Amino acid sequence: MKLTVIGRYGPYARSGNHAGSCYLVSQGDTNLVMDMGPGSMSRLTQLVDISELTAVFISHLHYDHTSDLLSFRYRLEELDRRVKIITQVDDTPWCRLLLDHPLFEVIPVTSADSVKAGDFTLSFFDMKHTVPCLAVRVEGEKTVAYTGDTVYNDNIPALCRGADLLLADTSKPADFKGPHMNVEIAKELNKNYDIKILSTHLSPDYDPEPEFAAFPGISVAHEGETYEI
Ligand SMILES: [Zn+2]
Repeated sequence: MKLTVIGRYGPYARSGNHAGSCYLVSQGDTNLVMDMGPGSMSRLTQLVDISELTAVFISHLHYDHTSDLLSFRYRLEELDRRVKIITQVDDTPWCRLLLDHPLFEVIPVTSADSVKAGDFTLSFFDMKHTVPCLAVRVEGEKTVAYTGDTVYNDNIPALCRGADLLLADTSKPADFKGPHMNVEIAKELNKNYDIKILSTHLSPDYDPEPEFAAFPGISVAHEGETYEI
C-alpha cells in the first residue's frame, strides 16, 4: 500500500510546477484519490490512468481541495466513464455546481458511515475547520489516516489510533493563527500517539522542513514522491 503526493499546497500553490491538495492511495488495482486541488489533475494523469481510478474522496468543499473536479469532468466525458465521489454534501450552490454531473456517482457520507472503495474500507471523522470537513481512515493492507483541513480536536486520537501513517494538515508556522494545525502540533501528535506523520498543506511561502530535523517520525510531504505505508 502506498501514498503518492500529487499536490501539497493551500490555499494556493507555490509558483512553478506545484499543485493544491491531492493524494493518491494505491494498492493493487485500487486507486483512491483524496482531494483534487488546483493543478492536480495534470499531475495525477502523469501517474495514473484516469479510467482506472476507483474513487475520489473529498475532505471538504473548499476550492483548494476541489477545483480540479471541474476539469476532471471533461476528461470523464471523453472517456464516458463514471467515477465514485465520496464526500459530505450540502445544499450550497458551489456543492451543486461541483458535484451535479451524470458521470459523478456521488456517495454522500457522514462520520457515522463506513464505505468500501475497491480493496479499501473508508471511515470518517468530523474535524474542525471553517466549513464541515471529514478526516478519513483508509484501511487496506495498512492503514493511512488523512486529516483534511482542521485545527486540533477531540476526534484526532481516534483517527490516529493504530494507523501506520497520518497525513496531517500540520505545516503552518508555530505562530499561525487560523483553521489549520501548526508544526508544533505535528511534534505533539508524533510523540503522544507514536505515529509516523507526513506533514502537508504547506503555505506557498513557508518551509516547515527545518522544524522537523530532530524528529525522525515526521516528514514533510514532497510532491511527486511515493511513500510506502
Ligand atoms: Zn480548507
